[in-house]
Amino acid sequence: FIGQVHSQRPQFLTNHIQQRNSNNKWTTSSDSQTFSTVDPSTGEKLLDFSHATPEDVDTAVKYARKAFKTTWGKTVAATERAALLNKFADIMEANTELLAELESWNSGKGVRIAREADVADSVACLRYYAGLADKVHGQTIDAFGKDKFIYTLHEPIGVCGQIIPWNYPMLMWAWKVGPALAAGCCVIMKPSELTPLTALKLCDLALEAGFPAGVIQTLPGLGATTGNAIASHMDIDKVAFTGSVVTGRRISVAAAQSNLKKVTLELGGKSPALVFNTADPEETANWLALGIWFNSGQDCCAGSRLYVQSGIYDKVVEALVARGKASAIGKPSDEATSFGPLISAGQRDKVLGYIEDAKANGAKIATGGEKWDQSNGFYVTPTVITDVKPDMKCVKEEIFGPVIVVSKFETEEEAIHLANDTTYGLAAAVFTNDAKQSMRVSGALEAGTVWVNSYALLHVQAPFGGFKQSGIGRELGTYGLEAYTQVKAVHHAL
Ligand code: NAD
Repeated sequence: FIGQVHSQRPQFLTNHIQQRNSNNKWTTSSDSQTFSTVDPSTGEKLLDFSHATPEDVDTAVKYARKAFKTTWGKTVAATERAALLNKFADIMEANTELLAELESWNSGKGVRIAREADVADSVACLRYYAGLADKVHGQTIDAFGKDKFIYTLHEPIGVCGQIIPWNYPMLMWAWKVGPALAAGCCVIMKPSELTPLTALKLCDLALEAGFPAGVIQTLPGLGATTGNAIASHMDIDKVAFTGSVVTGRRISVAAAQSNLKKVTLELGGKSPALVFNTADPEETANWLALGIWFNSGQDCCAGSRLYVQSGIYDKVVEALVARGKASAIGKPSDEATSFGPLISAGQRDKVLGYIEDAKANGAKIATGGEKWDQSNGFYVTPTVITDVKPDMKCVKEEIFGPVIVVSKFETEEEAIHLANDTTYGLAAAVFTNDAKQSMRVSGALEAGTVWVNSYALLHVQAPFGGFKQSGIGRELGTYGLEAYTQVKAVHHAL
């Protein structure tokens, strides 16, 4: 199918890649500027995309505001929103092969993973929020006796800007658009400039589903222009962002200095896994390998810091190294590939820079640490670094690549201290056969998600988000829907 995409260019590619979608119409950018993307597995130019200007953002906001005031936020009942979201999910599912190919082509992930994880989870997310759309209920508060009472309404926030990264372009789209539409908000979506392809295709499918004009608009563009125009717009009510801490800070400032719009931030991580002596080394290594090498390590909750108790250290490192060497690294179009290239040459060089710095400071590369370069793609092999010190860059900073750093510990207290010694707090894991220990340690870990004897499993029903500098607010679950509503208390006297 990739071959088909390359050689035949599906209709929507030829029609729409140089455009943006506003008010249910495909149009070019107001200043005709474009930007290009690159195939990460070959380093070759992929396609040109329209670059939405601040004026284009302004126009989209006007359409969204109109839709919010007249249709989506007003006359379209919750059950109708649910029906449209379900129809959209059905159309996505029917287009699974095309979506998987496009996601794989644009982001470099293996096509089977794109099909079985990214598309399937995105469809499940939309269906989950379709199911919640008509279950947003307020309270009746009998505070004053029989002739006065208070009731609460959970109203949609309004026009929401959504800015997403390149590591899961389709899934992040679904995580944001699903709850916002279910709550009755209208969205202006800015995909990453590295991976706008599937966001545009999803907009195409949304047109087919029949959402009213102005409800979903997709504006590809660069962060500093299109993204900043969204974050600082005076008539956007909320901005929901997933990406790096640096950009999250900028968006917070832009939101605060414009109209004080509401902000949710899903940011980075440097997530620790603690392995105690009672854990099974082979099973643990399976989870650790998934935790660090899924999506080639380009995962906000990647288990990138590993702390192993001394009694089991050698066995765990040996088992993990064996899994790194056995990773199915390959071309994204190959069904067997589970480990693809990094997104860009810049990302590859950044990751290799961390590895060089670790080596120069006395750490050992137990496996990997190299380019895998049969075709000028941006591959870095699965890497395990041992003999690290707590103040090394590779231990402190988010690498966002396939690199895990390993340290030894003796006591539970020491392990908890090491795990929490970071400005991040997105995720953490504990491996032990002692249930009392897992309860104690998970309670002490400063992280929004804690896995016990597992890693990397996220579920649409469970809230996801960060402690400390890993973010503000929660996505997924009922919390994810609440994040797109605001509560009104009506004090009613008879
Ligand atoms: P990034 O912050 O560079 O970019 C993310 C998005 O923000 C892109 O769409 C970009 O165009 C936009 N942007 C950049 N500058 C902007 C500005 N000044 N104003 C408005 N928008 C702007 O992040 P990335 O490199 O695309 O993604 C990697 C980062 O994302 C990592 O730090 C990773 O941990 C994080 N991430 C977090 C989660 C999570 O749920 N917590 C999920 C995936 C990725």
